[in-house]
Amino acid sequence: MLEPSTPVQYVKGIGPRLAEVLRAKDIATVDDLLHYLPFRYEDRLNPRSVAELRAGEMATVIAEVRNSGLFRTRRMPIFQLTVGQGRTKLKCLWFNAAYLQGRFQPGQMLALYGKVEEDRDGQLQIMQPQFEILGDININEEGGADEVEKKAAASLEIGRIVPIYESTGQGKLTPRWFRRIIRGALENLNPNLPDPIPAAVRAHLSLVSPREALWKVHWPDAGESFADLQSSRTAAHTRMIFDELFFIELGLELKRREQKAHTGIAFRLDGGVREAIKKILPFHPTAAQKRVLKEIATDMQTPCPMRRLLQGDVGSGKTIVAFQAAIIAIENGYQVALMAPTEILAQQHYFSARQILERAGYRIVLLTGSLEQDRKRDARRHIAQGNAQLVIGTHALIQDRVEFEKLGLVVVDEQHRFGVMQRLKLMKKTDDRGAMGVSPVKPDGDARCSTAPERDPEPDVLVMTATPIPRTLALTLYGDLDVSVLDELPPGRTPVVTRSLPDERASEVWDFVRKQIAAGHQAYVVYPVIEENEERELKAAEQMHRQLREKIFPNLHVGLLHGRLDADEKEHVMREFQQGKIEILVATTVIEVGVDVPNATVMVIEHADRFGLAQLHQLRGRIGRGAAKSYCVLMRGGKVSEEGERRLDAMARSNDGFQIAELDLELRGPGEFFGTKQAGIPSFRVANIIRDRQLLEAAKREAAFVISGPNSEISKEEIDRALREMRSRWAQSYGLVEVG
Ligand code: ADP
Ligand code: MG
Repeated sequence: MLEPSTPVQYVKGIGPRLAEVLRAKDIATVDDLLHYLPFRYEDRLNPRSVAELRAGEMATVIAEVRNSGLFRTRRMPIFQLTVGQGRTKLKCLWFNAAYLQGRFQPGQMLALYGKVEEDRDGQLQIMQPQFEILGDININEEGGADEVEKKAAASLEIGRIVPIYESTGQGKLTPRWFRRIIRGALENLNPNLPDPIPAAVRAHLSLVSPREALWKVHWPDAGESFADLQSSRTAAHTRMIFDELFFIELGLELKRREQKAHTGIAFRLDGGVREAIKKILPFHPTAAQKRVLKEIATDMQTPCPMRRLLQGDVGSGKTIVAFQAAIIAIENGYQVALMAPTEILAQQHYFSARQILERAGYRIVLLTGSLEQDRKRDARRHIAQGNAQLVIGTHALIQDRVEFEKLGLVVVDEQHRFGVMQRLKLMKKTDDRGAMGVSPVKPDGDARCSTAPERDPEPDVLVMTATPIPRTLALTLYGDLDVSVLDELPPGRTPVVTRSLPDERASEVWDFVRKQIAAGHQAYVVYPVIEENEERELKAAEQMHRQLREKIFPNLHVGLLHGRLDADEKEHVMREFQQGKIEILVATTVIEVGVDVPNATVMVIEHADRFGLAQLHQLRGRIGRGAAKSYCVLMRGGKVSEEGERRLDAMARSNDGFQIAELDLELRGPGEFFGTKQAGIPSFRVANIIRDRQLLEAAKREAAFVISGPNSEISKEEIDRALREMRSRWAQSYGLVEVG
C-alpha cells in the first residue's frame, strides 16, 4: 500500500535508478508523482478511421504501420511513414528525423495526433505528428471487431480519453510509461486517507474528494467535456487547484492573525494632531488620498501593530500620505523611519521632507550607506538620542543595526523593487532586533492585540508600492498585509504622449528636445543598465552623455546620473536638475523610482525594447507630473523581438498602470512578473493564479472561515488536521518563512 509520502522508488515499475531520473523533475514522492498531471488529453474513445479524416482538423487516428523510410532532399533528411486501414492510406512526415529509422515495424498499431492536411496530389498527410506505438493490439486480428473492443477496454491506450504526459529523462520515460506507472500508483494508494480539507469547506464549494480528483484528473470519464479537460476546468482540476491555494491562504491567514496578536502602539489622534497633519499640506489632497489616510490613521489608533500595503500607480501621491502618517507618530512622541530602495530615492524624499516637514518644525536626518563617516556618526547619535524625529535612508537603516530611541512607525517605499520574500526578511530583521523593540511571536492564533505593559510595543509598518497588482491578487500575495489603494491621480495631469521611433529618427527627436527646453522645460535621456554587463552599459551612458553635451546640445547643460556616483555627487546632480541648472539629465535606470521633477516634460529612452513593461511604466512616471503636456519617446535600434514590439506598442497605447500590469502578466507569466525566483512566491503545481483568480479568492475566504472556528460547521479536529497539513506543506514545498 502506498502513502502520499512514500518515495517513488517503491512504486511498482520505478526502482532506484528511475527514481533518480524522476528527481530531476522534482518527483520524489508518490504525492509528487500523482501531481505530475497530463498536459493534454487525447480523445481516443472514438479514434477516427483514416477514411473519416478531413483536411484542416486536429485529429487522433489509430492505424497500422505499412512502410517507412528515410529519403534525403537537398536540404534535409525526411522520414516518411505510411499507415493505413484496409485500402485507405495516410502519409506522415518528420523533418530531420533520421533517428526514427528502424522504429516502426509493418503491422504495428500506432496512435497518431496532429493536423491533417492534403498534399499536392490530394493525398492526406500529417506533418510531424505526435505518435505512440501501441504495439500488440491489432485491429485486423482474427476474431473481428468484438475481440478488438475487448482488448481496447483492457488497454490504457485506446477506447478512452487518454492522458498525455510530458516525457522526460531524454524520452526514456514516455507518456505511455507514465500512464502505466501513475495508474499503478493510483490503484495501490491507501484508500483510507483522510481529507485535510474540512467537510464544511468541501460543501461550500462542492469539492470532490482528493481521491476522486486524482483518479479523474489522470483518467477522466468518457462523459467529461473535452474542452473542460483541456482547459483544466473539470471538477477534478478544481479540487486540485483549490487544494493548492487553500493551504497557502491558510498559512497567510494564520500569519496575519499572529501579527494582530502582537502588542502595538495606540497612537492618539486628537484635534492638535489633526491640525498638524493638515497644516503641512501644500495642496488639496485627492479623495483617494483622504480615504487612504483615514485607513492608515484608523490602524495607527488601534493597539495592534499596523501591517499595511499602500498601492498606488506612479504619481498618485503616496509620499504626502506617508508624511502625514509620520506626523501622527511624531506628534505622539515617536520616531519614524522612512526607507527607500536606492540612495537617490532616499535623497529625493529627504529633499521633499525638508521642504514640507522641516519647515513645519520637524527634525529630519538622512542616513545612507555612502555618507561620510562623520555625518553618519552624527546621524546615528541624533537617532539614538531621539533628536531625529524622521529618519530617511536606504535599507542600510535596518541592516546597520541603527539604534532608535523610540521607533513608532516604519515606512518602506517602492516595495516593487523587492520581492515578497525580501519584505518578509525585512520584517523578520525588525523582529530579531531588540533595537526595533519587537517581541517574539506568540503562537496563539486567537489572541487579540493587547497593550500588555510587560512587552515593548512593535512599531507600525506601512509598505508602499507602485506595482499595480490587481487587487485580489495583492490581497492574496501579500496575504499577511492589509491593503489600501490610491486609485486616483492628482488633478491637472495630462496623459503622457508616447511614441516609439527607430534610431534613424534621432535628429528629429533631439530637435524636439531642444524646442521643449527653449520653452522652459527639462528632459531626461535614459540608458539601460543591464546588470550582467553593467560596466559596459555604464560606458555607453557616459559616452552618450559626452556626445550629447559636446555634439548635440553644446549650448545646453547636460548632466549625468548613475548608480556608481558617490552620495555627494548624486545629491549635487539631483539638486542641480531640481533647480533647473541642468536642463538635460542623462541617466541610467537609477531614476526609475520616485524621482520627482515636475518641470521635466520629455523623456527619451534609448534601447527601449530592452526594458520590461513595468520598468518602462515606472520610468515614464517621472514625467507628466506638472501641468504641461509631456512626451515620452521610446527609441529602438536594430532588430526588435516580437515581444519587444508588443511592449513598445502597449506603452504607446496606454498610460494606465493597471492595464500595463495585466499585459505584462500576460507576456511574461506570473513567475517572472512577480519575480518569483527571488521573491519566494510558491511555484504552483496545478494552480495558475491568473487563470484561477476566483478560486484564489474562495481559498482566502475559506481559510479565514476555518481559522475563525471551531463552530457548529467545523470541528476542532478538522481544524487541527488542516493546520497540520498546512505546516507540513509550508515547510516542504514553499520554503516560506515558518508559521507559528
Ligand atoms: P508617487 O505615488 O509616485 O510616490 P509622489 O508622492 O511622488 O507620487 O507624487 C507625485 C507628484 O504629485 C508630486 O509632485 C506631488 O507633490 C504631487 N501631488 C501629490 N498629491 C497631490 C495632490 N493632491 N494635488 C496636487 N499634486 C499632488
Ligand atoms: Mg514615490
